[in-house]
Amino acid sequence: LFTALRAAFPADLDQIAITVWDQEGQPAYRWRDLERGSAMLANLFDDLGLQPGERIALQVEKSVEALMVWLACLRSGLVLVPLNPAYQAGELTHFLSDAEPRMLICAPEAFGRHSSLAFQAGVDWVFTLGQERQGTLLERAAFHSDQHAALPRQANDAAAILYTSGTTGRSKGALLSHGNLLSNARTLLSVWGWQRSDVLVHALPIFHVHGLFVACHCALLGGSAMRWFQRFDPLAVCTALPGATVFMGVPTLYTRLLGCPAFGSETLGTMRLFISGSAPLQAETFDAFRARTGLTILERYGMSETGMLTSNPLLGARRRGSVGPALPGVSVRIDAPDASGVGGVEVQGPNVFGGYWRRPELNTSEFSADGFFRTGDMGRLAADGHLELVGRAKDLIITGGLNVYPAEVELQLNALPGVQESAVIGLPHPDLGEAVTAVVVGAAAESALLTALRAQLAGFKCPKRILFAPELPRNAMGKVQKNLLRQQHQGLYV
Ligand code: ATP
Ligand code: MG
Repeated sequence: LFTALRAAFPADLDQIAITVWDQEGQPAYRWRDLERGSAMLANLFDDLGLQPGERIALQVEKSVEALMVWLACLRSGLVLVPLNPAYQAGELTHFLSDAEPRMLICAPEAFGRHSSLAFQAGVDWVFTLGQERQGTLLERAAFHSDQHAALPRQANDAAAILYTSGTTGRSKGALLSHGNLLSNARTLLSVWGWQRSDVLVHALPIFHVHGLFVACHCALLGGSAMRWFQRFDPLAVCTALPGATVFMGVPTLYTRLLGCPAFGSETLGTMRLFISGSAPLQAETFDAFRARTGLTILERYGMSETGMLTSNPLLGARRRGSVGPALPGVSVRIDAPDASGVGGVEVQGPNVFGGYWRRPELNTSEFSADGFFRTGDMGRLAADGHLELVGRAKDLIITGGLNVYPAEVELQLNALPGVQESAVIGLPHPDLGEAVTAVVVGAAAESALLTALRAQLAGFKCPKRILFAPELPRNAMGKVQKNLLRQQHQGLYV
């Protein structure tokens, strides 16, 4: 993977690769800096005796140097384990004992707490890396050569363990190979029409598939520049759009951009593509974005285990409520479809991981006999191959023996006046098994919403109760944590 990325760097390595837009002085990194910085880190890892296949856990705030750590791991044949910096001691202990990294790289201010956990877990080295190039990692790397020949790697060699977001339960480690990541990057580069002249506004975290693999690999393999944000701030992002061409976001980034009066067509003259994924894009957001900007968000679908699977087209109609057809080389099928065609989404392709890290039971249950991965999402394939997702299998509600897909109810609910957003869940019910229940953010009356819904949906799909909340619980990727809502309200009917 590194060799492919490196081959895409422009011939003139003095060109700017990454500008850190939200840091004082807007420091700029040349392609040469990525090459040299990652070489010095790779030499440090090699000289410490880390062996190919061994893991490095990286739990730091976003920085270009953190991206260099990823490149250095690729060069040295090491397996990166990126971790959300929000994870606390209990979570970190779990990930360290599961991944068994030889090195932990953490934030300087976390060193006191995390180094003792790491040493207890058998980690050999703990280095620190801050957002402004401070910390022991770069101090040590500075003593190493800036020349490094990348270790040759095969498609099946491990490159990263990506822990899933933990939306439906405890995170699982998805073991991704060089071949998985490179094939997906090449496909995205082609279907999204990536050019060297593209400029990506990168405002996502890089401990996740979206920010690290989808966004960074497109830009690196395209030899394209990035405008880099260490944290998302809609106003600041607006200042980076003139002159840029591509933006990638999770749906909450889009709602926050739309909440910003400075965001409008005047600043978007050079923008050609806004891509959304990681969570369902609401119809309201899709419409409001089009009305405000004249541009249509391109929604795509993927996950830690597989990278990207489907995408709305670059050319041709992008359909609201659809995540698009399967990407070239990817097979998508629906397992056990019901009368309306909805069933479990199963996938196969060179981008699909080989299995979970140290979870043999999942590697039996989550793959079909003929080698398709069971994504855990429910959906239907339209006649023209467009995939429509209706929610996760774990969120499917079975009420009085009938299936209710939360997304369908949420779609109707979100369109009603006074409703900002909603989450529909099943709660234990003595009679029905589960009762459809909605949690709504907004200012509306339960009875008015129920009356309006009854006119639109079959009775069994209508919520028994509508509860109101100031906001929905979301994790770092903006995904609604329905398991928390179910826990919180489990006693409502019993
Ligand atoms: P866990 O597997 O631990 O419960 P997670 O599935 O949220 O967490 P990720 O791998 O980060 O972890 O997310 C992948 C999931 O995100 C997909 O399975 C799907 O449910 C959801 N997703 C991604 N893109 C979209 C999209 N465009 N529309 C709807 N859902 C999406
Ligand atoms: Mg998942």
